Amino acid sequence: MFKKILVANRGEIALRVMRACKEMGIATVAVHSEADIDSLHVRFADEAVCIGPNLPGESYLNFNRIISAAEITSAEAIHPGYGFLSENAEFAEAVVSCGIGWIGPSPSAVEKMGNKSVAKDTMRSAGLPVIPGSDGAVTDEKEALRIADEIGYPVIIKAASGGGGRGMRVARDPQDLANAILIARAEAESAFGDASVYLEKYLPTPRHVEVQLLGDSHGSIVHMGERECSIQRRHQKLIEESPCVALKPSVRERLHAAAVQGARAMNYTSAGTMEFLVQGDEFYFMEMNTRIQVEHPVSEMVTGRDLIKEMIAIAAGQPLSFTQKEVRFTGHAIECRINAEDPTRDFMPCPGTIGFVHLPGGMGVRVDSHIYQGYTITPYYDSMIAKIIVLGLDRDEAVGRMIRSLEECVVDGVKNTIEFQRAILSAPRFQRGELSTKFLDGFSWDGRTLSLAEPVGVVAA
Ligand code: ADP
Repeated sequence: MFKKILVANRGEIALRVMRACKEMGIATVAVHSEADIDSLHVRFADEAVCIGPNLPGESYLNFNRIISAAEITSAEAIHPGYGFLSENAEFAEAVVSCGIGWIGPSPSAVEKMGNKSVAKDTMRSAGLPVIPGSDGAVTDEKEALRIADEIGYPVIIKAASGGGGRGMRVARDPQDLANAILIARAEAESAFGDASVYLEKYLPTPRHVEVQLLGDSHGSIVHMGERECSIQRRHQKLIEESPCVALKPSVRERLHAAAVQGARAMNYTSAGTMEFLVQGDEFYFMEMNTRIQVEHPVSEMVTGRDLIKEMIAIAAGQPLSFTQKEVRFTGHAIECRINAEDPTRDFMPCPGTIGFVHLPGGMGVRVDSHIYQGYTITPYYDSMIAKIIVLGLDRDEAVGRMIRSLEECVVDGVKNTIEFQRAILSAPRFQRGELSTKFLDGFSWDGRTLSLAEPVGVVAA
């Protein structure tokens, strides 16, 4: 097993990884920007190395400085967390070529799944259902028009290298499409440095359901159940839960089997997530994330297993310590992401200094957060300040527990999304489990009352 691990990240996920290391008796190294000198991950680590100025490009995204920090501190492996360099195949390659352990999947898996259109082709060949659309990237308008005609409107144009909910456009008719392709290509080029886009049928009211996977270097692949992440704003997840209430047992079984089959086809190692869109009893592969995800605690709560520890053990060459049969699912878990944003002003990020803070506790409540009283949220990084995760015997208990936890939660000094989240959890439609990725389309929020637009064709769970 590794004796020392460097965590190439910040915020709550850096703490999360360090907690697992501590429990395993592994020493930890933090890296941080100048802006993060007072961050909890720096204090929490056994050693810390300042790797540069505030902008991510000069610190958390800087290969050389991170690898040098590992070399100086004799760290044997690097955990990238999520975001930043976690899905950068070149970085993974560089780490490995310096003789440092990479706590993640193989660089080639990262690269393959990093291109969404290649990922789709790979999974189609592995026998998974994929959303009807173009085979690979489309370059000219004529081809796009032909494909759209075939699959029917509306269609969605996606940047092959896109992510984080960006680089997508919906076209409702041929006039729309011609324009959308031009704009999407230009946007993709400037945002991701890759102009290639592909086409997909746009599903009216899908649910976003993803399967958590773990693979070791000895050929074992297990799933840790699914998470439903349909509550999104502008394609960004806000609330995640497990299990998904809408799946019939037979569909759930097929979904899990498909995810395992896809991972097996690429000899996947480490933690990964296969994302699907579910419409009725049909599901379609959408993309695979080759990293630990923000919402991973939801799966940890229902399985009682620590995904970060498993990732570390897998990277150290150990076989998985359990079989699929030994993964038991208990209860229902929900996660709410709390952001320092102003929901009444289009969720504008609100950096600032945290005043009084009280995080919720009690039975079945877990809080993953890096904030503390007096901590200053800088404008340089993402605005998530805490994740509240609850486990209940069933969904009703979990919903009640989350509402209670959100009511207990106090974060003074910065505008935040606690009240907004509480309003979603309290909405009868949410409580009935009538979810889709369109749940929040057309909503309004005045700081107290959440009004949802009439749903189109969503059926109760
Ligand atoms: P990203 O990698 O940027 O998160 P995804 O491909 O995972 O992008 O898609 C994010 C979200 O966009 C999905 O959860 C869903 O809400 C929506 N979406 C993506 N593809 C489709 C589609 N074909 N039809 C309807 N909604 C879609």
